[in-house]
Amino acid sequence: MSPHQINAVNSSHTPLHVAVIGGGPAGLMAAEVLSREGAHSNIKVDLFDAMPSVGRKFLLAGKGGMNLTHSEASTLFLSRYGKRQAFIEPLLEAFGPDDLRLWVQELGIDTFVGSSGRVFPTDMKAAPLLRAWLHRLRSTGVSFHVRHRWLGWTADGAMRFASPAGEVTRTFDAVILALGGGSWARLGSDGTWVPILQSRQIDVAALKPSNCGFNVAWSTHFRERFVGQPLKSVALSFAGFERQGEFVVTETGVEGSLIYAASAAIRDAIEASGCARVLLDLTPGKSLERVIKEVAHPRGSRSMSSHLQSRAGITGIKASLLREVLSSDDFADPMRLAASIKALPLTLLSPRPLDEAISSAGGVTFESMDTRLMLKAMPGVFCAGEMLDWEAPTGGYLLTACFASGRAAGLGALAWMTRKHREPARCG
Ligand SMILES: Cc1cc2nc3c(=O)[nH]c(=O)nc-3n(C[C@H](O)[C@H](O)[C@H](O)COP(=O)(O)OP(=O)(O)OC[C@H]3O[C@@H](n4cnc5c(N)ncnc54)[C@H](O)[C@@H]3O)c2cc1C
Repeated sequence: MSPHQINAVNSSHTPLHVAVIGGGPAGLMAAEVLSREGAHSNIKVDLFDAMPSVGRKFLLAGKGGMNLTHSEASTLFLSRYGKRQAFIEPLLEAFGPDDLRLWVQELGIDTFVGSSGRVFPTDMKAAPLLRAWLHRLRSTGVSFHVRHRWLGWTADGAMRFASPAGEVTRTFDAVILALGGGSWARLGSDGTWVPILQSRQIDVAALKPSNCGFNVAWSTHFRERFVGQPLKSVALSFAGFERQGEFVVTETGVEGSLIYAASAAIRDAIEASGCARVLLDLTPGKSLERVIKEVAHPRGSRSMSSHLQSRAGITGIKASLLREVLSSDDFADPMRLAASIKALPLTLLSPRPLDEAISSAGGVTFESMDTRLMLKAMPGVFCAGEMLDWEAPTGGYLLTACFASGRAAGLGALAWMTRKHREPARCG
């Protein structure tokens, strides 16, 4: 943001105090916007986090390769936000994937586009980026208060924190809440803010698992043999979703990128009708006709399993999955077996718990905020990041919207304070 964009937010000598609560990517981005302005407007930014250090989920996200954003065309990119696209669009217009890449570059970190179109830092890691970012934030005057758990408000509007020194209260001119969703609670985002906001009549959609695994009633035999093994390459179709990829058999069911990609629709279907039946194509490269021809080929004295292996290339976990799901009659019938190889029904019973999910759906509804992400019922209080009511698949869409909404909330707080300061003084 140029210093001229929001000039003289605070022209008086009395400092304005802003609290950012939550030191994930959304909160840190809000703090950045505010502290840059604060450098010449006498704004003091205090960032609070319940954990002993900030950015823990961000660091975890970097473990398997930090996927910052995606390079696909903006229409496709926006479509990833599904039903909330209209609310996310203005945030990304102001700070989209390209802006994010430039911003990362400013921190001295180069990015590259992977073969899938996903964007990563060149070293794939989150830690160097976070280190450089925190250094810059401290140098622009952000004060960090870790081990400060926000508890809500006092009757007269002060913020309550549980700190190592006991409960402390502080008042602020504006507050940004960036408390994250409800997954991986041990990293800090535990969703305990939900009842606090609801008690203030803020509309919060229930937090639900997103990009999550599902429970399947595996037989003991199948579970014991195949837990931890990948099913690849398969194509999964469900309610209009169709994609090729892979997933893993777990102790309780299934998880992995292909399952995560369809997880929102599967979760909603289970909520509506008790379970969801996905169809798996175990030979995505082959047509049904070809599979029928191979399976129906005379097998002589060979068992169906060795016939499947030699004619259709179906072995190991794929062959056992057919056995697991099909009746012995269907398995023995070449036509029904071939049809099942191309569309094997797998029943998913329930999503895995929110705490295990990559991200959360649900949160503060966009209807309860204005376009600057300020709570309509609580002027001066802004919300950002995963605690807002949106969801997106993995692929960098989560972080991109967290950064963009953190920036919007920071700018929103600046604009709100500007207006407040320009209002004529009221006489009592
Ligand atoms: C395993 C894993 C891998 C991921 N990989 C990717 C990826 O590659 N790309 C991608 O785009 N996304 C990824 N994500 C998702 C991404 O990390 C999150 O969407 C993002 O971190 C959310 O940012 P946030 O700032 O909204 O919240 P968070 O990062 O969750 O931060 C919220 C902060 O608020 C603090 N807090 C919460 N409650 C309180 C309170 N009461 N008082 C004080 N502080 C509080 C927490 O301690 C925390 O520091 C991944 C997530 C996981 C779990």
